[in-house]
Amino acid sequence: MENKRYLEDTDKKYIWHPFTQMKDWAAGTPTIIEEGSGCRIKDIDGKWYLDGVSSIWVNIHGHRRKEIDDAIREQIGKISHSTLLGLSNVPAIKLAERIIGIMGRSFNCMGNSSWLPSSGRAQQVGVKAEMPSPAKVFYSDNGSTAVEVALKMAFQYWIHKGVEGKNSFLSLTNAYHGDTLGAVSVGGVDIFHKVFGPLLFKTFKAPSPYCYRCGSGRNPQDCGSACVAEMDSILKKHHREIAALIIEPLVQAAGGMIIFPEGYLKAVRDLCSRYGVLMIADEIATGFGRTGRMFACEHEAVVPDIICLSKGITGGYLPLAVTLATEEVYKAFLGDFKELKTFFHGHSYTGNPLACAAALACLDIFEKEDTLGRIQPMISLSEERLAEISGLDHVGEARNRGLMAGIELVKEKNTGEPYDWEEKMGWRVANYAKEKGLFIRPIGNVIIVMPPLSVSVEELEQMLDIIEEGIKAVT
Ligand code: PMP
Repeated sequence: MENKRYLEDTDKKYIWHPFTQMKDWAAGTPTIIEEGSGCRIKDIDGKWYLDGVSSIWVNIHGHRRKEIDDAIREQIGKISHSTLLGLSNVPAIKLAERIIGIMGRSFNCMGNSSWLPSSGRAQQVGVKAEMPSPAKVFYSDNGSTAVEVALKMAFQYWIHKGVEGKNSFLSLTNAYHGDTLGAVSVGGVDIFHKVFGPLLFKTFKAPSPYCYRCGSGRNPQDCGSACVAEMDSILKKHHREIAALIIEPLVQAAGGMIIFPEGYLKAVRDLCSRYGVLMIADEIATGFGRTGRMFACEHEAVVPDIICLSKGITGGYLPLAVTLATEEVYKAFLGDFKELKTFFHGHSYTGNPLACAAALACLDIFEKEDTLGRIQPMISLSEERLAEISGLDHVGEARNRGLMAGIELVKEKNTGEPYDWEEKMGWRVANYAKEKGLFIRPIGNVIIVMPPLSVSVEELEQMLDIIEEGIKAVT
């Protein structure tokens, strides 16, 4: 087909693909997607693939959801973009209110009122509602920008509070917060981040609670939370230099689906409070139901000071991100014009009306279909199957939190000796899966399974069958 040949050649001629060795890409034949439906995507040859990684962790309710398609079309009929710098727009306003409402429900049942609009608080204590001054939504367009905003906000917060010297951040080894330089500075995945070392600002690194490969060589049952103790000692020594801690709650996704032991996140929150360090929760991968609750922090009743959201926010349709700040953080930025307390940050497409309209429709579906209730049996199914898969000879650990799963392949099951990364074991399984009609993208030796939340029992079974076969065939 001439069209096919033209597209393949033109892709290779002009596109530089992200996180891709282009020499290998040029030697292969690109798979070119032209259509999607539900949990499947179709290439230009007409072959359908199960979307096993939700189009890189963004898709929530499936492709071509009528409600989201319609909402975007309706918004196109009004206006596609107008700026939030000096103006506002209708979907951005409605979405901000909606998100703060969800935050109120998710976090205020936990005894902290900072995510609840003041009007709501006033009703609670039986006084007349004042002009609401709730937590605030700061818009941007992708996960990395949401993180940049959070870091700058936390840094500037302390300046406005008159606290000097908080010029650094605390993050975890194996953390991934995006690809812009601030986000890379707080990142901890050497293979992606090390090369940029000379460009990065100073941060402190606490050990990732990666129990399967615990740096201290202990096991979670009797380690006495050694990684919490290490974070404690870093904070004890350096808290005066640290503006904020940034963390992916419960799951370090791009680090290889590393699942935190129970209680770890709560312990981290307590340390932040004790040492006067803001807590930034990067829920970009974990947010919007992926862990089985709307937000991962809910599992441990943890209330962060700043929250970053993106990816699933629009159901995987359009780029949009928000950085949420508690009323306490926001209020520090209020002052007379000449005091220069303004938050000087903003992107051209901030609060894009089409993306906000898609996000509103996505949230409607969560409510209408009780998405969080619907996925619970899917999570149990995936746990049963992962337990089976973990018995395979070359699987070191098959772990999950909700519908985020990672299967770590190892050369030696008994010792956990990893395959050399050059062996591309993860990719070999992914290539096998692609042949069989499943698209997945591994992280090193870890096979990632993160389907849209709309996945059916049959589709999930099919995905895990193919992966199991693939692991057996390749190892
Ligand atoms: N934070 C986390 C936890 C992520 O997983 C990602 C992306 N995988 C990002 C930030 C960056 O998001 P984006 O790719 O949209 O910049």
